[in-house]
Amino acid sequence: MLLLFGLTTRTKTLGSGTFHCQNERGDRNYVLLEARRWFTLFFIPVIPLKVLGELVQCSSCGVQYDSGVLEQAAPPLASNEGEVTSDELEAIVRVGTELGMLPARLRTILVEKIPADVVDEAIRRI
Ligand SMILES: [Zn+2]
Repeated sequence: MLLLFGLTTRTKTLGSGTFHCQNERGDRNYVLLEARRWFTLFFIPVIPLKVLGELVQCSSCGVQYDSGVLEQAAPPLASNEGEVTSDELEAIVRVGTELGMLPARLRTILVEKIPADVVDEAIRRI
Protein backbone atom coordinates (compact mmCIF):
# COMPACT_ATOMS: atom_id res chain seq x y z
CA MET A 1 0.00 0.00 0.00
CA LEU A 2 1.31 3.44 -0.95
CA LEU A 3 1.24 6.12 1.75
CA LEU A 4 1.82 9.73 0.79
CA PHE A 5 2.76 11.83 3.80
CA GLY A 6 4.60 15.06 4.42
CA LEU A 7 4.57 18.46 6.08
CA THR A 8 2.88 21.70 5.16
CA THR A 9 2.44 25.13 6.71
CA ARG A 10 -1.00 26.63 7.02
CA THR A 11 -2.15 29.94 8.40
CA LYS A 12 -5.20 30.86 10.36
CA THR A 13 -6.58 34.37 10.90
CA LEU A 14 -6.37 35.55 14.50
CA GLY A 15 -7.59 39.11 14.03
CA SER A 16 -7.47 42.25 11.95
CA GLY A 17 -7.12 45.97 12.30
CA THR A 18 -5.26 49.00 11.00
CA PHE A 19 -1.49 49.51 11.05
CA HIS A 20 1.22 51.56 9.35
CA CYS A 21 2.41 49.64 6.29
CA GLN A 22 6.13 50.31 5.83
CA ASN A 23 5.96 49.19 2.20
CA GLU A 24 3.29 51.69 1.20
CA ARG A 25 4.10 54.26 3.91
CA GLY A 26 0.51 54.68 4.94
CA ASP A 27 -2.16 53.33 7.26
CA ARG A 28 -3.70 50.16 5.89
CA ASN A 29 -5.83 47.24 7.05
CA TYR A 30 -4.05 44.06 8.12
CA VAL A 31 -4.83 40.50 9.13
CA LEU A 32 -2.94 38.86 11.98
CA LEU A 33 -2.09 35.28 10.99
CA GLU A 34 -0.81 32.30 12.95
CA ALA A 35 1.47 29.99 10.97
CA ARG A 36 1.45 26.32 12.02
CA ARG A 37 3.15 23.24 10.63
CA TRP A 38 0.90 20.26 9.87
CA PHE A 39 1.55 16.62 9.20
CA THR A 40 -0.21 15.69 5.97
CA LEU A 41 -1.52 12.39 4.71
CA PHE A 42 -2.34 12.30 1.01
CA PHE A 43 -1.82 16.09 1.01
CA ILE A 44 -4.53 16.55 3.66
CA PRO A 45 -3.38 18.23 6.90
CA VAL A 46 -4.33 15.78 9.65
CA ILE A 47 -2.11 16.42 12.68
CA PRO A 48 -1.31 19.95 13.92
CA LEU A 49 2.33 20.33 14.87
CA LYS A 50 4.46 23.27 15.98
CA VAL A 51 3.18 26.87 15.86
CA LEU A 52 5.81 28.69 13.80
CA GLY A 53 4.78 32.17 14.81
CA GLU A 54 2.49 35.07 14.12
CA LEU A 55 2.72 37.40 11.17
CA VAL A 56 0.96 40.49 9.97
CA GLN A 57 -0.16 40.65 6.36
CA CYS A 58 -1.09 43.96 4.73
CA SER A 59 -4.53 43.65 3.13
CA SER A 60 -3.59 46.21 0.50
CA CYS A 61 -0.17 45.15 -0.84
CA GLY A 62 0.09 41.66 0.68
CA VAL A 63 3.55 42.19 2.22
CA GLN A 64 4.02 40.15 5.40
CA TYR A 65 5.70 41.47 8.53
CA ASP A 66 6.73 40.14 11.92
CA SER A 67 3.91 40.75 14.42
CA GLY A 68 6.14 43.30 16.18
CA VAL A 69 5.21 45.78 13.43
CA LEU A 70 1.91 46.37 15.26
CA GLU A 71 3.73 47.94 18.20
CA GLN A 72 5.50 50.48 16.00
CA ALA A 73 3.79 53.82 15.75
CA ALA A 74 3.43 55.57 12.44
CA PRO A 75 6.31 57.98 11.80
CA PRO A 76 5.43 61.57 12.59
CA LEU A 77 4.12 63.56 9.65
CA ALA A 78 6.52 66.01 8.09
CA SER A 79 6.05 69.32 9.86
CA ASN A 80 2.53 70.15 8.77
CA GLU A 81 2.06 72.43 11.74
CA GLY A 82 0.57 75.75 10.84
CA GLU A 83 -1.79 75.27 7.94
CA VAL A 84 -0.86 76.85 4.64
CA THR A 85 -3.54 79.31 3.64
CA SER A 86 -4.57 79.71 0.02
CA ASP A 87 -3.14 83.29 0.12
CA GLU A 88 0.29 81.99 1.10
CA LEU A 89 0.04 79.25 -1.47
CA GLU A 90 -0.98 81.75 -4.17
CA ALA A 91 2.21 83.69 -3.44
CA ILE A 92 4.24 80.49 -3.76
CA VAL A 93 2.55 79.58 -7.04
CA ARG A 94 3.08 83.13 -8.42
CA VAL A 95 6.81 82.88 -7.70
CA GLY A 96 6.84 79.46 -9.35
CA THR A 97 5.09 80.90 -12.42
CA GLU A 98 7.57 83.75 -12.65
CA LEU A 99 10.36 81.19 -12.63
CA GLY A 100 8.74 79.54 -15.62
CA MET A 101 7.27 76.63 -13.70
CA LEU A 102 3.91 75.41 -14.85
CA PRO A 103 1.19 75.42 -12.18
CA ALA A 104 0.35 71.82 -13.09
CA ARG A 105 3.91 70.72 -12.35
CA LEU A 106 3.88 72.63 -9.09
CA ARG A 107 0.52 71.15 -8.23
CA THR A 108 1.88 67.61 -8.39
CA ILE A 109 4.62 68.58 -5.94
CA LEU A 110 2.36 70.50 -3.56
CA VAL A 111 -0.54 68.08 -3.52
CA GLU A 112 1.45 65.69 -1.33
CA LYS A 113 1.71 68.24 1.46
CA ILE A 114 -1.34 70.45 1.04
CA PRO A 115 -5.00 69.51 0.58
CA ALA A 116 -5.92 69.45 -3.13
CA ASP A 117 -8.81 71.92 -2.78
CA VAL A 118 -6.44 74.55 -1.33
CA VAL A 119 -4.03 74.04 -4.26
CA ASP A 120 -6.86 74.22 -6.79
CA GLU A 121 -8.17 77.47 -5.32
CA ALA A 122 -4.72 79.09 -5.34
CA ILE A 123 -4.10 78.10 -8.96
CA ARG A 124 -7.58 79.32 -9.98
CA ARG A 125 -6.88 82.76 -8.44
CA ILE A 126 -3.78 83.40 -10.60
ZN1 LIG B 1 0.83 47.52 2.38
